[in-house]
Amino acid sequence: MLTVNSYSATSATEPLAPARVERRDVGPRDVLIEIKYCGICHSDIHFVRGEWGTAPYPVAPGHEIAGIVAAVGPEVTQYAVGDRVGVGCMVDSCGECSSCRKGEEQYCLKGNTLTYGSTDKDGRITQGGYSTHIVVTEDFVVRIPEGIELDSAAPLLCAGITTYSPLRRWGAGPGKKVAVVGLGGLGHMAVKLAHALGAEVTVLSQSLKKREDGLRLGADHYYATSDPETFEQLAGSFDLIVNTISAKIDLDAYLSLLAVDGTMVNVGAPAEPLAFNVFPLIMSRRSFAGSAIGGIRETQEMLDFCAQHHLGAEIEVISADKINEAYERVLASDVRYRFVIDISTLA
Ligand code: NAP
Ligand code: ZN
Repeated sequence: MLTVNSYSATSATEPLAPARVERRDVGPRDVLIEIKYCGICHSDIHFVRGEWGTAPYPVAPGHEIAGIVAAVGPEVTQYAVGDRVGVGCMVDSCGECSSCRKGEEQYCLKGNTLTYGSTDKDGRITQGGYSTHIVVTEDFVVRIPEGIELDSAAPLLCAGITTYSPLRRWGAGPGKKVAVVGLGGLGHMAVKLAHALGAEVTVLSQSLKKREDGLRLGADHYYATSDPETFEQLAGSFDLIVNTISAKIDLDAYLSLLAVDGTMVNVGAPAEPLAFNVFPLIMSRRSFAGSAIGGIRETQEMLDFCAQHHLGAEIEVISADKINEAYERVLASDVRYRFVIDISTLA
């Protein structure tokens, strides 16, 4: 067993602080990864603050992991020491249910093992990427292609795949009008990816403060949702809306922006229930859907797509002692557009 440095939460209210976490011995099919960078996802904040239910403290969050393979078990076939690799939100699943057989481990019917805060097969609570090393079965490791820097690749492991998966499933591409709601970590990747897929992209943000950035990232149009005229002007216009907002919103207002047969996909995961009126759905055969990350195969596909299109996340690299400050800035929508921890500052 390996004991390594981390930044961990000890309760829902205390700031995160340095702590040691344990990693299992490298098993026959395991990969030991020296973590170089880890993104800060808003989910980390929801989770450690107990917004989705009580968290199992102490816990090191972090599921946007980019690093280098430091050791492999004797039966590992896909990775070798020195490879550039990533780990996202899952580290295991049953491997046998219909979802896993389809490569959709995120919908494992027996419940997958999340990168942090889950009970692992050995009974221990998983610990995430705000740490120097992690041991993961090779089936849940992906390859980071040359051409994407490790720091800007890290956020692709959650923000990238969580937006790529619904954009692909609901056919974002040429001739499709896609709206991205919220220009944060997920939102900025949704803009880049939807643009690269060939869709006409509109950002719906609370204000016009980030308009220039949005257009530079690939949006064709940019509107402020604080302006009631936005909702009148854009009524009935989108084939697909991807909602990345981490808080409760007035869903009826957004559903009215969908065209006939349009779909609004919620990836934002606020703690509070969201309510809506069914009439905007009925009257234009609209759909309201949810989507969770993506499978391992699709995550690799997304990384290869990003390399091909020269896409990475826009990041602000911070040292580990700035994690709590970064959390406050994420909560204030003051992130451009993902904080990434330089894990060498944890060594
Ligand atoms: P983030 O960086 O904080 O971005 C969220 C954005 O939502 C903000 O930048 C802001 O955009 C907007 N926003 C925040 N509070 C708002 C409010 N009260 N009213 C209106 N707009 C508001 O967060 P993230 O890391 O992208 O994550 C977003 C959400 O997705 C979180 O709930 C997270 O847990 C969830 N998530 C889900 C999955 C999944 O698998 N479904 C995966 C990862 C994350 P503007 O400033 O542009 O308005
Ligand atoms: Zn995440």
